[in-house]
Formats: sequence, C-alpha cells, structure tokens
Amino acid sequence: MAGFDSIIGQEQIRDHMAGAIESGHVGHAYIINGERSSGKEYIANLFAKALQCKGEGVKPCGVCPSCIKAADDNHPDIIHVTHEKPGSIGVDDIRDQINSDIMIKPYESDWKVYICNEAEKMTPQAQNALLKTLEEPPAYGVILLLTTSTEALLPTILSRCITLNMKPVKDSQMRKYLTGELGMSSDKADLCIAFARGNVGKAKLLALSEEFDNVRNEALSLLRNIRDMEIAEVAGAIRQISEYKFDTTDYLDIIAVWYRDVLLFKATRDAGGLIFHDEIQYITRVADRSTYEGIETIIDAIDTAKKRIKANVNYDLAMELLMLTIQENS
Ligand SMILES: [Zn+2]
Repeated sequence: MAGFDSIIGQEQIRDHMAGAIESGHVGHAYIINGERSSGKEYIANLFAKALQCKGEGVKPCGVCPSCIKAADDNHPDIIHVTHEKPGSIGVDDIRDQINSDIMIKPYESDWKVYICNEAEKMTPQAQNALLKTLEEPPAYGVILLLTTSTEALLPTILSRCITLNMKPVKDSQMRKYLTGELGMSSDKADLCIAFARGNVGKAKLLALSEEFDNVRNEALSLLRNIRDMEIAEVAGAIRQISEYKFDTTDYLDIIAVWYRDVLLFKATRDAGGLIFHDEIQYITRVADRSTYEGIETIIDAIDTAKKRIKANVNYDLAMELLMLTIQENS
C-alpha cells in the first residue's frame, strides 16, 4: 500500500502527519479543509492506516494485518461517520457514532480514529454535542473532520482542532502524475490541469471521465458557432449539456478556458501557450473580431453565471443570459 509519499503536493500536511506518527505526538482532533475531490479522504484514510499500523519502520507498512484490514475498509478501530440526511449531520449522528462509541476502548490497537466527511454539514446542535467529546477526549481518540469550508463550524470547535488546509497542487506535479501514473497524453493532461486548478482529484476525475470528451466537444462546437445561432438553437444546446451527469461549473470552466485562450492569443499572437491550441483557427477568428473589453465582459459573465447557478438561480435562465452576453461580445 502507498505511504505518505503517494500524496501529490500537500507537503505541509504530509510532513505534519508523518511527524506526528513518528513522534507519537498525535492530536485528538484535526480539521482537513479543502475543496471537493481535492484528496482529503485519501489523506485521512492514510493517516488512520498509519496510526493503526503494527509494522516496523515507515508507516503505513501496507503488509501487517492492521494495514490489510484498513485497506479493506474493515478495521474495527477506524470509524467512518455516516449521516442519513444528505444535507446535514444531526446531533443523533454525532451522539451515536462518536460520543457513545468513543467511550468503548479500541478493539485491537492504541488508537480509535473517527473520520467524519462533510463535517461542515454538522448542525450547531451536532457541533455542541461533539464539543463535549473534544473537551475531554479519551487518550486513544482521534477525530478527523473533513470540510470544504470551516465557516459553518463554531469557534469553540475550531479552537480545539488542528486545522490542516489543502493547497492547490503545482501544475508540474499534476502533470507528472497524469502523464506518469495515469499514462495520459501530455495534450490531454494540459487540458485537465487547466480545468482542475490545483485539485488533483478533479483532474483525475476529468481524465477518467468518458463524458469529459463529449462535454468538451459540445462546448467547443457551441463556441465556434454561437454568433450565428438562433436563440432557440442556443437554448437547445444548453439543455443538451444539462443532460450529462457533468458538473455545470466544469462546463463553464471549459468556456472560460477557451475565452482565456482568445484573450491570450489576441495579446500575444502566439498559439504556443494555448490550452486549446487545436482550435487555433476559431480562436484567431474570435480574437480578431472581438475587443479586449468584449472578451473580458464574457469572462466576467461566466463567473456571474457560475455564482448564479451555485445560488440555485434557474439553470436555463442563468445560462441563457450568459449565452446572450457571449453572442453580443464575440
Ligand atoms: Zn502496517
């Protein structure tokens, strides 16, 4: 099994965890904070495995009975906290799965590790219940709270946890992983890196998604033709996209990257640095006929559309407004 050296980027978190394991100075509560699919669960599971490892030398050894159980998700002293309601973690979830459970000593090791994903979804009552455990944790208790944002957490929770923030991973590290371990062509790797913006999990997701190529092609076809399209055709294209099981913001990212390419090409007339360099014919055309102001208006409008969709404004409406802005300015 892979050790801490398998973590891509995140040197700070990696060093902190490896140091804690080596010295035995392990905190009772950690917050691992970072965006969705940035690798928080991978890191939390690795830390739990390393804590439980019974092997000699570098941990996790990957071969001891404890490591094998952990790899099979079958270790009695690694507990994944679950929640019934998708939108929230309630007080009963915390009481049943952490507070009462942690009173029972570990079955076969020195630690009992709790991994609570989406911890930002804890209700204030759930957080207050957890606080009781955080105030007086048993010596063997380690609680890992994984969050996409710490804003919803009470200051009293934050003050009792060691917060480890995920950092964007360098493009060069991502490229090495995508072209090396995943065996991707460097062209496709560049594309995934441009969209993932430092999020390894997202790059991997895009790289392995069969839909990614379809969505990319649909987006490009729309961008090539949008100026001459009737509004009904544009609306049809938008509806088509919503039928993919693809995150809409990823679709908008594709459009944003394309216009960033247009802007870059307009300024430099150099196709070398473009993400969509095979679109050069169309990019040249749009770069020639649009103004800097127009392209910037489009890029701003993409951001606005993203925010609207995140805030649950009607998808079709937000997208149509964006497409109108694109038509007017490209
Ligand atoms: Zn081991």
